[in-house]
Amino acid sequence: MIKVIQGDITALAVDAIVNAANQMMLGGGGVDGAIHRAAGRELYEACLKVPEARPGVRCPTGEARITPGFRLPAKFVIHTVGPVYRDGQHGEPEKLAACYRNSLALAEENGCKSIAFPCISTGVYGYPIEDAAKIAVREAKDYLTQRCREAEDAEEMEIVFCCFSDRDKAVYDQLVAKP
Ligand code: ADP
Repeated sequence: MIKVIQGDITALAVDAIVNAANQMMLGGGGVDGAIHRAAGRELYEACLKVPEARPGVRCPTGEARITPGFRLPAKFVIHTVGPVYRDGQHGEPEKLAACYRNSLALAEENGCKSIAFPCISTGVYGYPIEDAAKIAVREAKDYLTQRCREAEDAEEMEIVFCCFSDRDKAVYDQLVAKP
């Protein structure tokens, strides 16, 4: 099931919220800062313990890492790093799609039945909301279709798109309604 809401992702009592993190995973601005403030110092400590893939990089672009949610209502935080948008011709669509796919796979591996995504890369990273939302909704629909096919009686994952603005929500609403 796909749900679109407008609000603050740090308030959601879902199994996992996704953080639009940066490669260092030690906090930042936007949704990343909000999540770190709400989760508390323990989240920073847990991120510090995530091994570096290479110097200064705990989570390469397009990949995902999981930590507990600490003081958040959510059980887990899945940190993923969206691409910085240039012109859409530098692998940005594939990298953004990988964020959604890898986050969903990590949620499933950890027994999550609900997950909430912010509009990854559409803030400071500059990805146009219409293009980014198309990728997000396509990946969510593909994931749910695939999961249904693999196990007909599998309990479905609830995928929430948590938009910060009404305008972003309107974009998602339209895409989710399309067959
Ligand atoms: P990025 O660096 O990936 O672009 P940003 O945090 O700058 O990440 O922005 C990603 C999206 O998160 C934007 O749509 C922004 O409005 C939104 N956002 C910021 N704070 C919150 C929050 N507390 N809950 C949900 N979304 C948020």
